[in-house]
Amino acid sequence: MSTLQLRTGARVQAEAKINLLLSVRSREPGGYHLLDTLFQRIALADTVTIRLDVRDRSLDSRGFSVGPAESNLGWRAALAFASVARWPDHFAIEIEKRIPVGGGLGGGSADAAAVLRALNALAPRPLGPESLDVIASGLGSDVPYLTSELALALGSGRGERLLALESLPARQVMLLVPPFGVSSAEAFMWYSTTKGRSTRQRQPFLLPLPLSWKTVAGHARNDLEEPVFAHHGELATLRRKLEAAGAPIARMTGSGSTVFGVFESRNAMQAARARIDDGALGARLIETVTVEHVAPVEFL
Ligand code: C5P
Repeated sequence: MSTLQLRTGARVQAEAKINLLLSVRSREPGGYHLLDTLFQRIALADTVTIRLDVRDRSLDSRGFSVGPAESNLGWRAALAFASVARWPDHFAIEIEKRIPVGGGLGGGSADAAAVLRALNALAPRPLGPESLDVIASGLGSDVPYLTSELALALGSGRGERLLALESLPARQVMLLVPPFGVSSAEAFMWYSTTKGRSTRQRQPFLLPLPLSWKTVAGHARNDLEEPVFAHHGELATLRRKLEAAGAPIARMTGSGSTVFGVFESRNAMQAARARIDDGALGARLIETVTVEHVAPVEFL
């Protein structure tokens, strides 16, 4: 008889995402929007640790406040996993926050995805990809991508239907994070108000494959920029600053509020930083990099 060595904890670097492209196709009668989006994982990450050798269920955070446990997506991910897998009874989650909240960087979703990946890696009987996907989709539109092992993917539907793409070589990314967030619900509502609440289906977004950074730069757009910039003009100014500083790709990520620039080299980003960081930016500047491989689950 073989003995099973049960592991009692795991840690995941819950990497954030940017949307290199976001094109809204139509609005579902239920209010959700169908879209095409190009997701790219970046190195900026929260650290999510799960321990199973505990006698209770708990959630702790360091860094930014993650709010009450009940409304935390990482907590809800653990509860959903435990209810489907009927395991584990007890867990302690610790989240060290680095990803700004409400910034369109998928921080809460990345934490939820990290919890799902860690629990599934620890589980004596892991869930299959379909079950995991159902849980992830129920937690939010970005969670399936962030639960996947894909650094670059095209998301369709609400963003949860994924097409795997070959990773692009790592590029430098400058994030300009304003001191306020934008709620996705509000951004999509502003979008449908300006577009007359049309549920008419637009053509799917066509991207030439295999992708290169040049083609991404040629196609990069975000349909939520116009409605969000109409309410937050300062975001348009931030994007213009990145463009003026030479970023070949300068966009808002998701529904905002973060605006990002992708640069070809560290030197190019440093030169841009010298031009942008004028003390009156009105946003926090974070330098990071796109990743080619998703950080693996580490066992404790
Ligand atoms: O999926 P998530 O929880 O991130 O979405 C938050 C809100 O953003 C939804 O309740 C919905 O109002 C809006 N949304 C949308 N279409 C999407 C994604 C989000 O309308 N594809």
